Amino acid sequence: MNICLNDKIFRIISDVVTAEGVAAYVTGGWVRDCLLKRDHPGKDIDIVVIGSGIDIAEKTAYRIDPGINVSVFKNFGTAMFRWKEYEIEFVGARKESYDRGSRKPVVEDGTLEDDQKRRDFTINAMAVSLGKDSFGRFLDPFNGTEDLKNKIIRTPLEPGMTFSDDPLRMLRAVRFATQLGFSIDETTFLSISENAGRMRIVSQERIIAEINKIMMCEKPSEGFILLERSGLLGIIFPELDNLKGIEKKGGKAHKDNFLHSLEVLDNISQRTDNLWLRWAALLHDIAKPLTKKYTPGTGWSFHGHEFKGSKMIPDIFRKLKLPLNENMKYVQKLVDLHLRPIALSQEEITDSAIRRLLFEAGDDIDDLMLLCEADITSKNEKRKNQHLENFGVVRQKLREIEEKDALRNFQPPVDGEEIIRTFGIRPGKEVGIIKNAIREAILDGIIPNEHDAARNLMIEKGKELGLSPAEPVI
Ligand code: ATP
Ligand code: MG
Repeated sequence: MNICLNDKIFRIISDVVTAEGVAAYVTGGWVRDCLLKRDHPGKDIDIVVIGSGIDIAEKTAYRIDPGINVSVFKNFGTAMFRWKEYEIEFVGARKESYDRGSRKPVVEDGTLEDDQKRRDFTINAMAVSLGKDSFGRFLDPFNGTEDLKNKIIRTPLEPGMTFSDDPLRMLRAVRFATQLGFSIDETTFLSISENAGRMRIVSQERIIAEINKIMMCEKPSEGFILLERSGLLGIIFPELDNLKGIEKKGGKAHKDNFLHSLEVLDNISQRTDNLWLRWAALLHDIAKPLTKKYTPGTGWSFHGHEFKGSKMIPDIFRKLKLPLNENMKYVQKLVDLHLRPIALSQEEITDSAIRRLLFEAGDDIDDLMLLCEADITSKNEKRKNQHLENFGVVRQKLREIEEKDALRNFQPPVDGEEIIRTFGIRPGKEVGIIKNAIREAILDGIIPNEHDAARNLMIEKGKELGLSPAEPVI
């Protein structure tokens, strides 16, 4: 077991706790990932101290370098500091239970066993001793090693107890299952289904952190399927839950938009680590239930779902506590534009349609194309290949137009200030009219995206508006 303790940091902690005469153990993700031979994504190390975690954190940090800054969370009895690539968190062993109906933990000092019992899963509750005499001794009272071997997520105690102490653990079960490719033990899973409603008392900040971890998994769909099956999805993300199901009328059925969205999410996840592009994939059809319509003879339609969907994003982001910043705008934009390349590829592609798409998508055009390709989930290989081929043509056209017209992040070649100066007018609606006319003429390919051509058009449009240049026209 010494293998988990090869890093120098463990010798240092061992020296400190031995000198202080207290016992301490490495536990949690470090031990689990080490046994799994899994790369530590961030090197966070959890140390449990039978005594004051804060005290040992401060003494260890001081021993390494008196200048290290230790963050102390007195209310929780924890402290952490960063050193080299490590983030080391110290916690005093606790006997803990949460007050039912509130999120305030009632904390008492405890033994190592007490502390292991209140951890979320058997695979996260293994501990390795750091004491000088027992360095490397492995303590696994809930047989986490066996569960690791069998790839099982299981609570150390009766699951109802573990989950009622902190209902977030239900979501963590799904997150670890998805991240590690494990299954959730049957009794544990049943208990999640029974206790799903208790998620309502958990803070949204903690919930979204876990959802985002699911989003970043290799195959995020697996997590969302588990959330749906356990009943958690309807509580933490009702809009997504709403996409479920197939309706059939007049012999015509539409596809299950929940499963389709997950397939698109998995497709995009193979191509990108961009969390927000993954969110755009998950949300691209979010307004389908609201726009669904059956017309006899024609079948099902979802007209305007891209537009309505993009309008829904701010509300969803606010409720989920996702950031209301440029990342949200990016998701909105991609949802809004997600049908445009498909529409383009199905008709004769005009330069002006391509220019407009480039103008609207700006720097996000490549991400939009990735999303559109991920959106093709037809089971019919021939049809799928046809779509992909068409997209190839759209991409080629985009490249050609871009080389010629440099429309990505369009900056008008004649700006408002030049218009005002030339005609000696005040800012007002004429400026807007002329600017619009220039932009439209460029997008329609009537004039090139260049200053002189735009200036000539400005003079012409000015004349139509009864304006004449206040300075000589060169
Ligand atoms: P990773 O850091 O890779 O996400 P981890 O297992 O280290 O995985 P953390 O959230 O960093 O997960 O938590 C560290 C350890 O603290 C866990 O392994 C677990 O033992 C314990 N833990 C964390 N959150 C809870 C919780 N809500 N209930 C019980 N134990 C928890
Ligand atoms: Mg961790």
